[in-house]
Amino acid sequence: MADSETEATEAPTMSFDKIVKKEIPSTVVYEDDKVLAFRDIAPQAPTHILIIPKVKDGLSGLSKAEERHVEILGYLLYIAKLVAKQEGLVDGFRIVINDGDDAGQSVYHLHVHLLGGRQMNWPPG
Ligand code: 5GP
Repeated sequence: MADSETEATEAPTMSFDKIVKKEIPSTVVYEDDKVLAFRDIAPQAPTHILIIPKVKDGLSGLSKAEERHVEILGYLLYIAKLVAKQEGLVDGFRIVINDGDDAGQSVYHLHVHLLGGRQMNWPPG
């Protein structure tokens, strides 16, 4: 499904497309042909990085995942681990994917949160 179709049926519609296209500036910490990792604009931990697929391909959220997305989903987690190492998060880190209203998702372009640099609590808020 095209991004425009997806976004037409979902609110809010803010996506990370402009960050991928560098139309909105961001602090990029890792980039390759498939994914982009950049610092969250409102960090919830000393290290807070978002890892996204450059091509959304219908992945407004994890709940939209299809079998064709298996490779990119695994790759996002692998890159999260690489970035955690790059950031020196040797004592641990947390991965979060918010999906939908109940989880507080605010941007409908799949993103993996990488959080670290402080003690995390459980259960999460
Ligand atoms: P969600 O709430 O959808 O799981 O996470 C969206 C995240 O994107 C939030 O943590 C928010 O701070 C971050 N965010 C939203 N807009 C921007 C932006 O323009 N630049 C950056 N770097 N982060 C953003």
